[in-house]
Amino acid sequence: MDEILHISLEGGQARALVAVTTSLVEQARETHSCSVTASAALGRALTGSVMMGVMMKNADDRLTVTMNGGGPIGQVVCTAYANGTVKGYVDNPEIELPRKVNGKLDVGAAVGKNGHITVVRDLGLKEPYVGRTRMVSGEIAEDFAFYLTVSEQTPSLVSLGVMVEKGHVVGAGGVLIQPMPDCTEEVLEKLEALTASLSGVSTMVHEVKNAETLAAKTLSSLDYEILNRSVPVYQCDCSRDRIERVLLSMGEVEIMDMVKSQHGAQVSCHFCNKQYDFSENDLLRLIREGKAAPKGE
Ligand SMILES: [Zn+2]
Repeated sequence: MDEILHISLEGGQARALVAVTTSLVEQARETHSCSVTASAALGRALTGSVMMGVMMKNADDRLTVTMNGGGPIGQVVCTAYANGTVKGYVDNPEIELPRKVNGKLDVGAAVGKNGHITVVRDLGLKEPYVGRTRMVSGEIAEDFAFYLTVSEQTPSLVSLGVMVEKGHVVGAGGVLIQPMPDCTEEVLEKLEALTASLSGVSTMVHEVKNAETLAAKTLSSLDYEILNRSVPVYQCDCSRDRIERVLLSMGEVEIMDMVKSQHGAQVSCHFCNKQYDFSENDLLRLIREGKAAPKGE
């Protein structure tokens, strides 16, 4: 069962999130017909994003993570909400690469490291908060950790794993650990010593069926207390209304071009592949109404 545990470590000196996301990553794989390597890349990104998502305070808060590493898979994009809902896609889900010499999936080569990870946090304020750091390895977990540590000044250990067997996701999950500002040297050292057990998350997610077992396996050297639980779910919230706004944002000239050259438009949602059809009249109406509508949402 997919679950995220919110955990207090060493009497509150650090916090951790432990997530099992097997079902939601399998659903993403199925939605996008992902190759094995793309399943791992998207699955790790979804897991990292949904963990960052459930740390947000207000129900309507959302964040979008975009990794643009220049690899053959293209962009990796995930949007997560405070309630545990997440959605995502990669540009080229069919891309497959040979495994690395050690047998591991070569997510780093598929995603690439010549580019940036950008996080847009929409917290209901006038302007969204945008942070960006360079990609470290394209292996996703390291890229999240570097981003959180450098851009958001929140030192973080991140480990993410996705196991694919016979074309299906058989295990997915992650662990995210953040020391609090008052964390003692002694506890910091304990956290650093966890690195070895955290690197095993990718294989552990296959064996453990729930987040409590994953927490027990990774955090057993520390005092930990489960404070709260979230249920992560893969779900797209697209609508015809939202797609219309995307069309409008392309501008009148572009829409007129669709009217003239295609006499309509077929737009599919990147996140769930649902198709929306717009006839010539629909597009003309959009232009008419779009002009009159006030700017923004
Ligand atoms: Zn959708």
